[in-house]
Amino acid sequence: MTTSPDSAVRDFIAEHRPAFLDDLADWLRIPSVSADPGRAGEVRRSAEWLAGKLRATGFPVAEVWETEDGGLPAVFAEWPSGDPAAPTVLVYGHHDVQPAALADGWATEPFEPVVKDGRMFARGAADDKGQVFFHTLGVRAHLAVTGRSAPAVNLKLLVEGEEESGSPHFGALIRAHAERLAADVVIISDTGMWAEDTPTVCTGMRGMVECQIDLAGPGQDIHSGSFGGAVPNPATEAARLVAALHDADRRVAIPGFYDGVVELTARERELFAELPFDESAWLSVAKSRATLGERGFTTLERVWARPTAEVNGIYGGYTGPGGKTIVPSAAHLKLSFRLVAGQDVEKTRQAVAAWVAAQLPAGIRHELTFTGATRPCLTPLDHPALQSVARAMGRAFEQEVRFTREGGSGPAADLQEVLDAPVLFLGISVPSDGWHSVNEKVELDLLAKGVEASAYLWSDLAEHWNTGDRS
Ligand SMILES: [Zn+2]
Repeated sequence: MTTSPDSAVRDFIAEHRPAFLDDLADWLRIPSVSADPGRAGEVRRSAEWLAGKLRATGFPVAEVWETEDGGLPAVFAEWPSGDPAAPTVLVYGHHDVQPAALADGWATEPFEPVVKDGRMFARGAADDKGQVFFHTLGVRAHLAVTGRSAPAVNLKLLVEGEEESGSPHFGALIRAHAERLAADVVIISDTGMWAEDTPTVCTGMRGMVECQIDLAGPGQDIHSGSFGGAVPNPATEAARLVAALHDADRRVAIPGFYDGVVELTARERELFAELPFDESAWLSVAKSRATLGERGFTTLERVWARPTAEVNGIYGGYTGPGGKTIVPSAAHLKLSFRLVAGQDVEKTRQAVAAWVAAQLPAGIRHELTFTGATRPCLTPLDHPALQSVARAMGRAFEQEVRFTREGGSGPAADLQEVLDAPVLFLGISVPSDGWHSVNEKVELDLLAKGVEASAYLWSDLAEHWNTGDRS
């Protein structure tokens, strides 16, 4: 998968690297913390700063987009190719950041970028400003070495301002602007790679369904001597539900739950198995003493490619000091399900609802409330656009690129659904970058690789699109 790097691209990047890093540092000085209402003005300033920088980069269109209900603004930019056959690519990232303060234990001020030992330390350096920003120098390098005046693809950028707050208005935003966002391929630059010496391309993320189950038994707590053993106990029934959630192989026991699940291919299992995975190191990050999960699958397969049911909380009855001999009146469960490609949010909800209703005895009333949900997404390994991303990364790193998935869930699936386009991931962050943690940083050499991959990608995509090599 590796092809030779382009020394002209590397020279261009090296020449412009200092100014690029100065610009990135300016952006990182804007504390665009979306969770803090007191910093809404900073999020806006960050959006305006980026729109201005994208115009300076050459994007003929760069706009600040408002979100519903006075939400925080996103940035949209567009640079048409001029080539009528060119595919359209939408790059997604976010310009808001997690909260950060020196008092949290940072070695230096989180909003005063510091470059040390080849790293830039600042909140947002990796998640996600650095990874959005590498595209600006990437497209300039692409133009410089191809001699083009516009990119080889119709290039669009959507950089949201509420990702770190759960993207509450993102679905509405992309539906409202679906026409202008229309794309053949979506590239997410908000993920990372396996390790510094193991460049990888992520191919999908799990989805999620969340619910709360409230169980009601007696109209009030009642005496367990007078009534216990003769009426249903909601706390017992909550525990029975939880106990029935998995079978002996730790598979989810809800009928229909696995319907449609896209199984791992033999090739994917082989590729995952080749990754240098250190299970004991992974366990120490997990602060756990042993692995446990669905029988017949490895740890990576379990977190990347298998659906799950998780009990997030269970409570009810008396929880104070000492004892209280009652049959409690109520008990509660909070459950979440991670979904993989092929599973449908609505069908999963129906399966859960039918299962809960069938499990409970007469005399227990229940209320089932579904809260957040995210669709899963997955791009097959042989998808030509995924191959383009892998080639671009391979050229930048001069190394064969491997494939991973993400166990978590993100707004990627909304883009996939609304725009009806495959979602691909291009990121250069590494696990040590400290996302959401103290001393967040980005490795400057990896950032330059991101610039380089971005510089190669547009030509590669256009070339393979134009030859009809697409699905
Ligand atoms: Zn992010």
